[in-house]
Amino acid sequence: MAALPWDRSPGLREELADFYRDLHRHPELSLQEFRTAQRVAEALAPLKFEVTTGVGGTGVVGVLRNGDGPVVLMRADFDALPVAEKTGLPYASSVRAQDQSGVEVPVMHACGHDMHATCLIGAAALLANSTAEWSGTVVAVFQPAEELACGARNMVADGLFERFPKPDIVLAQHVGPLPAGMIGYGSGPVMAGMDGVQVTLYGRGGHGSRPEAAIDTVLMAANVVTRLQGVVSREVPPAATAVVTVGRLQAGTKDNIIPDTAELGINIRTYDEKIRALVRAAIERIVRAEATASGAEREPDFDWNISAPVLVNDPDATTATVAALTEHFGEQRILPIPQVNASEDAGVLGESAGVPSVYWFWGGINYAGRDLDQVPANHSPEFAPEIEPTLTTGVEALVVAARRWLEHTA
Ligand SMILES: [Zn+2]
Ligand SMILES: [Zn+2]
Repeated sequence: MAALPWDRSPGLREELADFYRDLHRHPELSLQEFRTAQRVAEALAPLKFEVTTGVGGTGVVGVLRNGDGPVVLMRADFDALPVAEKTGLPYASSVRAQDQSGVEVPVMHACGHDMHATCLIGAAALLANSTAEWSGTVVAVFQPAEELACGARNMVADGLFERFPKPDIVLAQHVGPLPAGMIGYGSGPVMAGMDGVQVTLYGRGGHGSRPEAAIDTVLMAANVVTRLQGVVSREVPPAATAVVTVGRLQAGTKDNIIPDTAELGINIRTYDEKIRALVRAAIERIVRAEATASGAEREPDFDWNISAPVLVNDPDATTATVAALTEHFGEQRILPIPQVNASEDAGVLGESAGVPSVYWFWGGINYAGRDLDQVPANHSPEFAPEIEPTLTTGVEALVVAARRWLEHTA
């Protein structure tokens, strides 16, 4: 491929850097991305994209129809996190907002989604200024609430694939702790599937001095936590990967009261459907059994309230896309990376449309002699991608990947 048409949009890089700094300074929590959505829509409109806002909540979809040919969907998420920024950057966030439960929290783009949205705007601009060189349709999807793993599903449920051209391929990327300018990729399962369940245990409350008259949910919950440690060590085959974490355990108000309920928040990571079903079933079995063992008079409640599928990179589509990226960036900037145990809801898009997905990571960190483990990564209050060469790399990766699937006319 020829050099990308940056020169046809003079000042674009500077505009994108300003756009990035603006999004970074004004982060919004998941499902509250109103200003961000508006900024994105304003940036897309002059680029000949048909822009639709309010898709699945605050989602924004831009469509650029440019003759016959494949439909390429590029997705960027744009929500921020309840983190107090400590980067010391001149464009650092000091924003505070109310979270879903009404608690005031600090807000920061600690996962780099502001960089994702900015790079997708940049890619849209470069594709729009080179329409004579390709044909097909580009769908730019700006997705809310990735951090709650519900934004992609919300957009699909709101008709993403009925109201807008259905893609032949889904492309997405995430900035992370690789050296700035590098691209890391995997094939097959690249990120874990995630499930979360909120469990409520029921016992019988009473005075702390009279345990014989109570059914102690604290002991019940403690036994559940301990017993759950056996799921991965004793039930999941050693060659498979799974994680079971109890990240929330709440019971009681005072040390001389036996509480009548206890709550557990349990998070699971798996890479295949069979193991996922096994782990889910084991958790329910153990929780119920411990309730029975304690003599509970009421069955526990299970609220499976969060889920993201395994993110699977289609092997053939990945090979083809990585070949194009390698040709553009050179071999020394592309590296295969191992599976990441974090999760992403980008996989919902390809899975729902029944088309291949290709998802890659790109680096935003200037290591400058620092130890790999010492550098703040995603979700850290000090996570601070270098604007360049991160921005240029992220824009070019999207354009090169999209052009791999669009038809060449020049
Ligand atoms: Zn994140
Ligand atoms: Zn993220």
